This record gives sequence, C-alpha cells and structure tokens, in this order.
Amino acid sequence: MAGVGPDVLVVGAGPAGSVAAALLAQRGYQVLVQERQHFPRFSIGESLLAYSTQLLLEAGMLDAVLAGGFQFKNGATFVCDELYSEFNFANKVTAGCSFTFQVLRSEFDHLLAKEAERHGATVSYGVEITAIDVRGAQPQVTTRTEAGDVTVYRPRFVLDASGFGRTLARLLELEQPSSFPVRAARFCHIKDGIVAGAFDRQKIRIGINPTNRDVWSWLIPFPNGHSSLGIVASRDHLARYAGTDEQQFWAMVGDEPKLRILLEAAHTVRPIGEIVGYAASVKALHGPGFALLGNAAEFLDPVFSSGVTIALHSAKLAAQVLDRQFRGEAVSWQQEFTDPLMFGIETFRTFVSGWYDGSLQDVIFYPDKNPSIHRMICSVLAGYAWDPANPYTGPSSARRLRALAAVCRAGGLAGAEAATGRP
Ligand SMILES: Cc1cc2nc3c(=O)[nH]c(=O)nc-3n(C[C@H](O)[C@H](O)[C@H](O)COP(=O)(O)OP(=O)(O)OC[C@H]3O[C@@H](n4cnc5c(N)ncnc54)[C@H](O)[C@@H]3O)c2cc1C
Repeated sequence: MAGVGPDVLVVGAGPAGSVAAALLAQRGYQVLVQERQHFPRFSIGESLLAYSTQLLLEAGMLDAVLAGGFQFKNGATFVCDELYSEFNFANKVTAGCSFTFQVLRSEFDHLLAKEAERHGATVSYGVEITAIDVRGAQPQVTTRTEAGDVTVYRPRFVLDASGFGRTLARLLELEQPSSFPVRAARFCHIKDGIVAGAFDRQKIRIGINPTNRDVWSWLIPFPNGHSSLGIVASRDHLARYAGTDEQQFWAMVGDEPKLRILLEAAHTVRPIGEIVGYAASVKALHGPGFALLGNAAEFLDPVFSSGVTIALHSAKLAAQVLDRQFRGEAVSWQQEFTDPLMFGIETFRTFVSGWYDGSLQDVIFYPDKNPSIHRMICSVLAGYAWDPANPYTGPSSARRLRALAAVCRAGGLAGAEAATGRP
C-alpha cells in the first residue's frame, strides 16, 4: 500500500530519533517515527554525559527528564587497585550544563519518545523499515507492521536513528569495519547493597582490573538501591572463565578486589546480558535524501558513556541542516553535518584509543595534576567533545594526548602545560 510521505521519516525511537523528531516537529515539519519495538523496552547505555543534558534542554525535553526522577550524575570516578581519580563535571572548561543522569533506558527512551509526540511528531510502534530506495527524487521507504501490513512512504528525507539495527547501513551497503578490535561486554542489573557513604552514587565508577588494564568494569547507580554493573574485555579474556553466566560474571567482578569488597552484599536482579563486537562504522554518514544518526552510523566503545551524547548531537546537527534545506537554502551535508559530527567522534576515538593503550589511564591517574589540563580533560569526559577551544578535542587531540601522557610518564608537571600547545 502506498502511504503519503511525511516531510521526514525517522527510523527508530531511541534518543537520536526522538530528539531529531522533536526538533523538526517544533520547526513545523510533519515527522513520522517508525519504531520496530514496543516501549518501554530494555536498552544498554544508562549513564549520560553533561552535554546530553544541554542537548535535552535545547530540544525542550529537560523539564520532562527532570520530572522523571532519574539518578542525578555529576561526574566519574576511576579506580585501579590503590589508584583513584575523580572528575567532577562542574570543573569542565566548556560552558553548558554540568550535571546529567543515570537512567533506566526503558523509562528514559519512552519518556523522550512521548516528548517527541508532545512536540508534534507521530511515533508508531511495532513497525519495521524493511527496504529503502534512494535513486529517485525522493527516497522510497518500505515499512512492515507485525501483522504483516506493508506500506511504502515517499518522505522528503529519511533520518536513520535505528541504533545497532543499522538499518540504512545494511540496506544501502554502507557498513565498514570499525578501527577497534572486537571486544565484549557482559552486564546486568544488581541490588547493590552498597553501604551508605561507601560510594558516591552521583558518579559512574569505572574500575580497572589491576592485572589486565584493558579489562574494566562500570558501576552505574540508580536511585532505588539498584545499579547497572558491566565488565568489558576481549573475547579471549572472557573465555578464561568457566561455570554458569552468573558464576563467570561474579568471578570477573572478584578479579577487581576493590569492586568485590564494594559489592559483597550485591545480587543480580536481571539475567546477565552480553554484547560482542559492538564497535561499528560506515562509509558515509549521509547520501541522497538520507542521513545516519547516533549508533546507526558509528559506535566506538562504552568506556566514556559517549553513545547517547553522540546520538543527541547528531540529531541536533541533522535537524539544523534539514531545516535550512527545506527552506530552500543551499546546504552541504558534508560540511554542516558529517565534518562537524566527526570532530567530536574523533575526540572520543582519541580517548578510547588512549584508554586501551594505557596512555589515558596514565593521564587520569597522574597524581600531581595540572589544574587547567585536568579541566580540559574533564570537559571531554563531560561530553563537550565538540568544543574547538579545548586543545584535547578534534583530530589534533591524539597528538596532544600522546604528548601529555609522555609528560605524565616522565613525571614532569611544568612540561604538561606545554603539552596542551597553549600558554
Ligand atoms: C556495552 C555497552 C554499554 C554502553 N553504555 C553506554 C553508556 O553508559 N552511556 C551512553 O551514552 N551510551 C552507552 N552505550 C551506547 C548506547 O547504547 C547507544 O549509543 C545509544 O543507545 C544510541 O542511541 P540511538 O538513538 O542511536 O539508538 P538506540 O538507542 O539503539 O535506538 C534505536 C531504535 O531503533 C529501533 N530500530 C532498529 N532497527 C529498526 C528498523 N529497521 N525499523 C524500525 N526501528 C528500528 C530499535 O528498536 C531502537 O529502539 C553503550 C553501548 C554498549 C554496547
């Protein structure tokens, strides 16, 4: 059956899809979001960054999120045996919100989708995008409901926000391997039993296995005495553990002594989940009549909780370009969407690479921190990865971080100032 085309058809009602839909509906466009699942549904990615709060504010969704009662988050802690480092987002150099949330994504994503509807978008659930043809003047999108009803839409533009579904990347053969090796995450929700005061519940805790420093854990507290707990490692490392999923999981927790002590009264309240090989990339972030948002385009690694922030920033950029295009202005998706989006993705790529090669861990745990550099690193960890005034952002961030790590390893502090490339 042929469906009338909305102005914009959005694939998926995750954070990227809902925020893009809201921003475009606010500008008066007809937006149809097609989501294949029914909400609320589980999703991984529960710790947000402060810049995502800024983006929710700009999308007119922050009041609803504040009313949602999510766990307040103001920073991150890093622990490796006796090494400890704390980042408070209030210390960031970039202007903007300095707090955020730790969320059950089932509730958070549902709330954002309802907010998109409140702003004027239509959201349909149980509808999957199964085909797309972008050879004509307007894209032709085929959808199928769970009952098997097929509809063909001719929207003016398609935004793919289908996350790990990677719908357009698959259908248009845009997928390409990530530059990162295959890693796996095992995770669950726990009743954490953490003694009051033993841990700052307003911060994500990133723990490092002291004997395998590329094996790390996340502990993301929720408000009700529950937490999200996950371990990330190579597949080879995971293969060392025997027993049931639970036994393997708690054995890995036990390999991090400080975490084992913190969680000695904990038990799981949700079965252990696993995602293997989550890193993904694409050959192009846009094409005729379409653009890819959030995880539908690129996913690096969970270590700095950057996924939702990248998703929301991509939604913001796409909505801006599309609005100008619809108003008849000449736009360049490369210069106004892909290049600016990649600037921040490159920042996070630098930080993820530095995490696994150990250089960023050396910077994070360096005892005699230079305060101004600490604030710049803090800005990126708070999600402000697109700030061109911060020396540790963008394509040159890799060189700067390498220089800083070398200074930290040599134990010098005066040189650390020079490593920023700034006075
Ligand atoms: C182990 C792990 C831990 C992570 N931890 C964090 C974290 O702490 N913080 C963080 O910010 N990020 C984290 N992430 C990343 C985070 O999960 C994603 O980046 C984020 O969910 C991306 O949002 P999105 O809107 O792009 O896509 P999603 O949230 O994945 O939403 C996509 C939606 O599209 C729908 N869909 C898919 N295919 C179709 C189709 N063909 N038709 C219609 N609908 C479709 C799906 O049902 C889904 O609802 C983590 C990722 C992993 C793997």
